[in-house]
Amino acid sequence: METDTIAAVATAMASSGIGIIRISGQDAVQIADQVFCSKGKKALKDCESHTIHYGWITDHGGVVDEVLVMLMKAPNSYTREDTVEIDCHGGVLVMQKILETVIRHGARPAEPGEFTKRAFLNGRMDLTQAEAVIDLINSKNDFAWKSAVHQLQGVVLEKIRSLREKLIHETAWIESAVDDPEHYDLDGYGEHLAGVVKEIKGEIQHLLERSDQGRVLKEGIHTVIVGKPNVGKSSLLNVLVGSQRAIVTDIAGTTRDVLEEQVNLNGIQLNIIDTAGIRDTDDLVEKIGVDKAKEYLEAADLVLYVIDGSRSLSEEDEDIAELIQGKKVIVLINKSDLEQQAELGQVENLSEHVIAISAKDGDGIEALTDKIRELFLQGGVSFNDEVIITNIRHKNALMLALESLELVEQSIEDGMPEDFYTLDLMNAYEVLGKIIGESVEDDLADEIFSKFCMGK
Ligand code: GDP
Repeated sequence: METDTIAAVATAMASSGIGIIRISGQDAVQIADQVFCSKGKKALKDCESHTIHYGWITDHGGVVDEVLVMLMKAPNSYTREDTVEIDCHGGVLVMQKILETVIRHGARPAEPGEFTKRAFLNGRMDLTQAEAVIDLINSKNDFAWKSAVHQLQGVVLEKIRSLREKLIHETAWIESAVDDPEHYDLDGYGEHLAGVVKEIKGEIQHLLERSDQGRVLKEGIHTVIVGKPNVGKSSLLNVLVGSQRAIVTDIAGTTRDVLEEQVNLNGIQLNIIDTAGIRDTDDLVEKIGVDKAKEYLEAADLVLYVIDGSRSLSEEDEDIAELIQGKKVIVLINKSDLEQQAELGQVENLSEHVIAISAKDGDGIEALTDKIRELFLQGGVSFNDEVIITNIRHKNALMLALESLELVEQSIEDGMPEDFYTLDLMNAYEVLGKIIGESVEDDLADEIFSKFCMGK
């Protein structure tokens, strides 16, 4: 466990009102005392924790900046170590100078995420809460923000803890019974355990069912707009984005490469990809676009299939329809402002969700928004009583736990001896432990924290 003193600029490296330089570790206060001077005041080491001090940062006798210094003594700080935060003027050069001064007096530049890593290693938060910190910083929509706050408050931790308690209780009971058969009766225990395992499996399955929805809402719905050239895909994207981001033209196949836009529809984020139009082509540039389009289709959560209602459907429309079979598709019959020619029989087979729109007038966009909400927010998202897993690492561990529990069920069914059960019960216990950061390998912790920003 590293105990040296680390320092970093915790605010963005850009001109702003204030900047914060953070110092944490056993020498934090002593280093701050060397660089901070405050007329007639006592040294920070003799001051009360959680006090703010006005003064100057000096180096080699010269003044670097006028500052406020915040003193947080261990264990009541973010890292649970002695921490000093220097509030300075938010100039990039000023912040750099103060950081250099602090480092020259004995601190080491922090790695990205190292403050939070220390908070985790010092037991201030578990791994799910540490991950929530980065999710909170990165959140771009209401769902991502709220779910990160809940995770930070420990709802995922509590849920995982409660599942693990049940598992360890059964394991302990079996082990006691095997050791002391005189006082424990194992008759009918298999049946009891089957009931408990079923209940835990149910809870995990429920978490897994909501996790895809959680991920989609957190990251945004990966959406692909498809349709043959000139049906109005770029126009639709423009309406959704609310600006003239995509270039709209009358020439077939002009949207050559793939455009990506983040759109916020009443709190739901769509990450929209507009394709070059999926069709056979000899044009190499277009081909790149088309291949990419197919690749994006594979990964899409939602496909918006645009057809031109003012023209008859063609073979191209059918080819596209074939390509998107099995995906979550909303068919948009565009150009509803013009006289309608298209025969809609075939498309109606493709999706039960068909909406007439006019990308030109914006008609039908509200109906589309409602439809997306309906498709992705079934039952709504309540934050009061429900734990929603939004992290793929947590999801994978839950799936492994489920597999182990299925093995327990199998052992019970096969009438195996009781001590057989404990092996798989303990496996489930351990993989769940990894979610909250118990017995987690150093590499994994390093990987998680390296995704953090500097100074966090
Ligand atoms: P894309 O090739 O599928 O991206 O199609 P564009 O968005 O470039 O649109 C092709 C043409 O159709 C342009 O001239 C648009 O102005 C026109 N267009 C798009 N949507 C509508 C609509 O709802 N009504 C009408 N009348 N024209 C539209």
